[in-house]
Amino acid sequence: MKKKLVALYKLQIVDSKLDEINSKRGDLPSEIDSLNERVEEVEEELRRAKETLKNIIEGIDSIDSDISMLKENIKRWKKQLTQVKSNREYDSLQKQIGEANERIDELSERRAQLIKQQGEVEDEVKVLEKDLKELKEELKSKEEELEEINKEIREEEKNLLKVREKFAKEVDKILLNQYERIRQAVGVLAVVPVNSGTCGGCGARVPSQRIVEIWQNNKIYRCEACGRILISDDVYKEAGESVKL
Ligand SMILES: [Zn+2]
Repeated sequence: MKKKLVALYKLQIVDSKLDEINSKRGDLPSEIDSLNERVEEVEEELRRAKETLKNIIEGIDSIDSDISMLKENIKRWKKQLTQVKSNREYDSLQKQIGEANERIDELSERRAQLIKQQGEVEDEVKVLEKDLKELKEELKSKEEELEEINKEIREEEKNLLKVREKFAKEVDKILLNQYERIRQAVGVLAVVPVNSGTCGGCGARVPSQRIVEIWQNNKIYRCEACGRILISDDVYKEAGESVKL
């Protein structure tokens, strides 16, 4: 059992070192993730705003051609007015001209609304483009910062991962599963030595009878407070001496 515990603690030493190296990246990876999400959101908003703008401009164009067609008609009907032969024909043309003018008024009102909207959406597009540019600049600088750190630690990390792989193979399967579960639950340290009668992870007191048992290295004991696996000084020293990082 002692061998199993030593193998497990050797793995813990490598993992602690890997965690330490990885912490050099700080919050950069998660900051980059959220910046990427934000860029996508703003790009989508911008795409929608431009689509709206396109529709507004098409609407204005179509109103303009309707108005010019109506004006053409009015011009033609006014000319016809000078050539009419009956009152009925005259009244009918006047009515048509009146209706066309009303329609032009309606369309002009609608056009004015669209022009106002166009201005608003154009402003929105400008703001979004500015936001997007700033976000992309921030993202680029964070990515460069991370790349710098990666350059520094990549080699060391690669070597440590190889060592880890080797060490993990030496650990008993059931113990390895237990170790991974504890690490997920409590973070970095899953295996800790007993330090002057207390758990090296959470500081909870370990009963003296339990310490005697732990020192025998026959069984796996876990801290009752935090659930970490507790190891004896022997195991701690032996593992520490056999791992050179
Ligand atoms: Zn504990």
